[in-house]
Amino acid sequence: MKFLIIGQGLAGTLTGRRLELAGHTVHYIDAPEQTASSSVAAGIINPITGRRFVKSWRIDELIPEAKSCYLEFEKLLGLTFWHEQPLIRTLYNRGDLNDWQARSADAGYPEYMDDNPAPGRIPVLTVPVFAYAGVRHAARVDVAGLVAAFRERITSGDQLKTDRFDYSGVPRLLGAEPASGEGRRSAGATKGQKSSATYDHIICCEGWRARFNPYFSYLPHGGNKGEVLIVKTEAPVLDRMFKHRVFLVPLSDDTYWVGATSENKFPDDSPTPANRKFLEDRLAEVLTGTKYEIIDHRAAVRPTVRDRRMFIGQHPELPRLWIFNGLGTKGGSLAPLGSRWLAEAILNGSPIPAEVNIDRFSPKKEGL
Ligand SMILES: Cc1cc2nc3c(=O)[nH]c(=O)nc-3n(C[C@H](O)[C@H](O)[C@H](O)COP(=O)(O)OP(=O)(O)OC[C@H]3O[C@@H](n4cnc5c(N)ncnc54)[C@H](O)[C@@H]3O)c2cc1C
Repeated sequence: MKFLIIGQGLAGTLTGRRLELAGHTVHYIDAPEQTASSSVAAGIINPITGRRFVKSWRIDELIPEAKSCYLEFEKLLGLTFWHEQPLIRTLYNRGDLNDWQARSADAGYPEYMDDNPAPGRIPVLTVPVFAYAGVRHAARVDVAGLVAAFRERITSGDQLKTDRFDYSGVPRLLGAEPASGEGRRSAGATKGQKSSATYDHIICCEGWRARFNPYFSYLPHGGNKGEVLIVKTEAPVLDRMFKHRVFLVPLSDDTYWVGATSENKFPDDSPTPANRKFLEDRLAEVLTGTKYEIIDHRAAVRPTVRDRRMFIGQHPELPRLWIFNGLGTKGGSLAPLGSRWLAEAILNGSPIPAEVNIDRFSPKKEGL
């Protein structure tokens, strides 16, 4: 079959690869002038999150799926994307320590929680803390590197069009031209008929900009802007990730990813001086044991969803039009399993788990 994927961030890349592996032809369209969330993410996979130290949703399934997915990309592209790295968290006071210890006794938690982690060079390079806690099975995926390397591959394979997709072309591309007009309602009149189609299926993976997709704008798209710094240090970088008032994530060549801010309301997706200052101040409080230089400051918008679950599914009236979105703050861990669910739904008719299926929102319920 022939597929078109709109948006080549992490969601589009992983979905496209799964379809290719199943023997199908995949074309992509991506607007390169827009900043993708995938190009700014640290790609941290963190099984224990928040101040209450809660296990991430379905993490026992997500980690093995992520590892095998990213290792397959490593083999395909000849680069390293998957880094298993300990994650060290700061416990700020006795209360945090008690909470951590209590949680680590809960069923299903000991595998992920280390009460007595080796902090490596953290105490030398960063400010003293009350105590450290370790998160086991943490990892970092080089999301930006993976998406960029895959882009080169599909560019040389002539599969990528670099342009903004014009949604009025959907009925024509699916061979489902409506009698008049565009949009979900008129497109629905044709109920997925398939005469002279350019593509058998179209999959929408536009990240937070899916709110501008007229077919799926009824979904409760969020959007959370994040800004980050990239810094280069004088001393060699830590060999583990460190969460204090900011996250310090070792990259390569003695550089760190430092982030991130979080804003649900934003006029645009550009970096701002105020958020740069916020990050600089926090970094200065934490990274006290080495000189460093800020070499980049970036911003992007995370594709968040009201109920914090992915959007996977089929347009209610155009069954060959699909969406994969809502990866929120955790695309690195969610996208491998989410892309499998989507590919299996399209290719084999497998059911999409109800928690992530867009059927949980109907255009009617959303007031349309
Ligand atoms: C500051 C920050 C830190 C983060 N840190 C982490 C982390 O540590 N761990 C983690 O797992 N996740 C993290 N994330 C989240 C992660 O980036 C996302 O979950 C994931 O990358 C989303 O991928 P996506 O493909 O859905 O969207 P995107 O990466 O945004 O890709 C969407 C693509 O679609 C294109 N597009 C949109 N509309 C159109 C159109 N009409 N025509 C053509 N192309 C279009 C865009 O140009 C873009 O290339 C972070 C995000 C941010 C912003």
